[in-house]
Amino acid sequence: MVIKNGKVVTENSLVKTDVLIRHGVIKAIGDNLSDRDEIDATGKYVLPGGIDVHTHFDLDVGIAVAQDDFYTGTIAAACGGTTTIVDHVAFGPKGCNLEHQINQYHKLARGKAVIDYGFHGVIQHIDTDVLYKMKTLIDEGITSYKIYMTYDYKLSDEDIYTTLMRAKELGLIIAVHPENDGIVNRRRADFVQAGKTAPIYHALSRPEQCEAEAIGRVLQINRMAGDAMVYIVHLSNNLGMQQINMVRQNGYENIFVETCPQYLTLSDDKYNDDDGIKYIASPPLRHESNNELLWQDIENGDIDTIGTDHCPFDYALKQKMGADDFTKCPNGLPGVETRMPILFSEGVIKMRISPKRFADITAANPAKLFGMYPQKGVIKEGSDADIVIIDPSKKVTVRHESLHENVDFTPYEGLDLECAIDCVISRGDIIVRNNEYIGAKKRGKFIKRGLPQSV
Ligand code: MN
Ligand code: MN
Repeated sequence: MVIKNGKVVTENSLVKTDVLIRHGVIKAIGDNLSDRDEIDATGKYVLPGGIDVHTHFDLDVGIAVAQDDFYTGTIAAACGGTTTIVDHVAFGPKGCNLEHQINQYHKLARGKAVIDYGFHGVIQHIDTDVLYKMKTLIDEGITSYKIYMTYDYKLSDEDIYTTLMRAKELGLIIAVHPENDGIVNRRRADFVQAGKTAPIYHALSRPEQCEAEAIGRVLQINRMAGDAMVYIVHLSNNLGMQQINMVRQNGYENIFVETCPQYLTLSDDKYNDDDGIKYIASPPLRHESNNELLWQDIENGDIDTIGTDHCPFDYALKQKMGADDFTKCPNGLPGVETRMPILFSEGVIKMRISPKRFADITAANPAKLFGMYPQKGVIKEGSDADIVIIDPSKKVTVRHESLHENVDFTPYEGLDLECAIDCVISRGDIIVRNNEYIGAKKRGKFIKRGLPQSV
């Protein structure tokens, strides 16, 4: 197959040219290539397929289970131009060993995923077995772990330190959910006690200082642990960014940062709307002054990737469980399907970022940081033919009815986009056309990820 005359975004250029695909791999990039099957991409952008390294398919949060499984979730991802996901496994039973949840997730994903996938492990306690398995699981393709500074299995500062020292020794990357647990819990309890249970108190119970303090703490701990590769997930606000910039200026190394589309396009005034409960997620949406600052951080390179934190619960369910008390509402937003078109429209078309920067934050950087480069994340000879073609001449309004996510709303309802996903190719298979999944079932493959590379 050959993709003709598109604006091809490669690692170092944006050039009108052709891309030849053979046996699922990019065979050549250049002018006047031909093959039997031809896709005309005239006037369209030809970009590396999206890589979303922050999804929660089938996530069991105790009070509910996230509604997209590895089938509906990867179909939705594909329709949104994403060809690879790395899912964060849920917490397992107390005291379980490190491979317990990895084994669980292989069962959840195998035979269901339609795009390629990997898993981040989770460290919910530290003992010698966990530290040993961090090494042995490298051969199984698990080269990143999530740690939490809040929720049931938060790690103590000492265990964070131990984890980071071990990660440094082995060359692994540690993703961190940074929020100050004690203060969040105290504020939640105080609000409930005072009868302040409306959705806005969700945001007020976990202010940006809770996030910024935890970011600062983990980065100081990481310095003492020897500068392991640390990945701050879902950065939501500028105060947190200031913490990161401060330590970077002091020479602290190996700090990488992800934000999500919701923190670029939505703000905390949503919590005061009648349907405010829809938007309950952690970290919460922030004051709108953060949106543009985070875009600047993406442009100037301070933010490295965009994940989605896709974790969908129906509006109806959130209302049923949390209408009288925000603390009873399952936390999370859908977004795996809307990430690429929203970022392209709001980012590239609105000229906040270049097409090259778009490709870096949505594909190349996640591939490098999570051990999939150059097989994934780049349009380059020899790489997997994972490609999304985006049409900037089409205008689309985001509507829940048009999406494939298994949830009854989208937080981006009514957002006008100045582009559309035209065609999605995964390992040389055309899997999406006309907003419809047309690939085979069960075609997704587990990616044995290698060690992370810096960006
Ligand atoms: Mn989180
Ligand atoms: Mn998450």
